[in-house]
Amino acid sequence: MAMATKMLLLLAAVALLVASSGAWETNIRMPASVATTTAMDEAVAPLIHALRPMLGSGGQLGSRAGVACDSWRLGVEAHNVRDWKTVPASCESYVGHYMLGGHYRRDSKLVIDEAISYVDSLKLAGNGKEVWVFDVDETTLSNLPYYATHGFGATPYNWMSFQEYARQASAPALPETKRLFDKLLSVGIKPVILTGRREVQRTATVTNLRRQGFSGWMTVMLKPAEFKGSAVTFKSGERQKLVDAGYVIVGNIGDQWSDILGTPEGARTFKLPDPMYYIG
Ligand SMILES: [Mg+2]
Repeated sequence: MAMATKMLLLLAAVALLVASSGAWETNIRMPASVATTTAMDEAVAPLIHALRPMLGSGGQLGSRAGVACDSWRLGVEAHNVRDWKTVPASCESYVGHYMLGGHYRRDSKLVIDEAISYVDSLKLAGNGKEVWVFDVDETTLSNLPYYATHGFGATPYNWMSFQEYARQASAPALPETKRLFDKLLSVGIKPVILTGRREVQRTATVTNLRRQGFSGWMTVMLKPAEFKGSAVTFKSGERQKLVDAGYVIVGNIGDQWSDILGTPEGARTFKLPDPMYYIG
């Protein structure tokens, strides 16, 4: 009788093990993945750029020719990989797919969702002195139409070629950032545009921002023609001027670490993804 009980207990244990294995398998298979992907794609519409990744080429994009491109990208975003000049040649396709597919938009959406939660948590003074600093390139405006035809950062930066593109003032808005921009206006925080673009590019930059629906900013600060220092020196210096004038920088967002490093950084900083280029 005792032996029969033991056998029953053993069978029950095996049944439980099988059942739990089944649960894992079900999760791993993710039968609802198609529906989930569709919902996410809708959540991040509209597209920033019309090009789409090639079907069937997404297999081993994370690791090609010995370079783990996803690890490289993480290193870039975490600021472990610094002072790089170009995207590794073997990662051009990976970065292209990241930028043009849903991943870039999803990552951007997460950043902006967090920023908006932060805004909602603030106890604002509402005295007109609270500002939020925005970078331009790959923050308010997307240069994907340019980089999509220039190797997604895998080919060396060509200043002349990029200026020609920027002069057209045709860069699309980054939709997620636009959402934050509009949110700030609605709660009385003044957006400040602070860009490493030069003064000579002011007209094209302002025109481009307005064409993409950005307006209501407090000021647009560009780099003077004669400025020789680093991006961190320039941007932190301009932020210091804001603080000296009595403004409170409640937030600061950019795609480069040089946008958000250097005192005063702002009460909170947000880093948007950008695996296409590095500005120190
Ligand atoms: Mg930028």
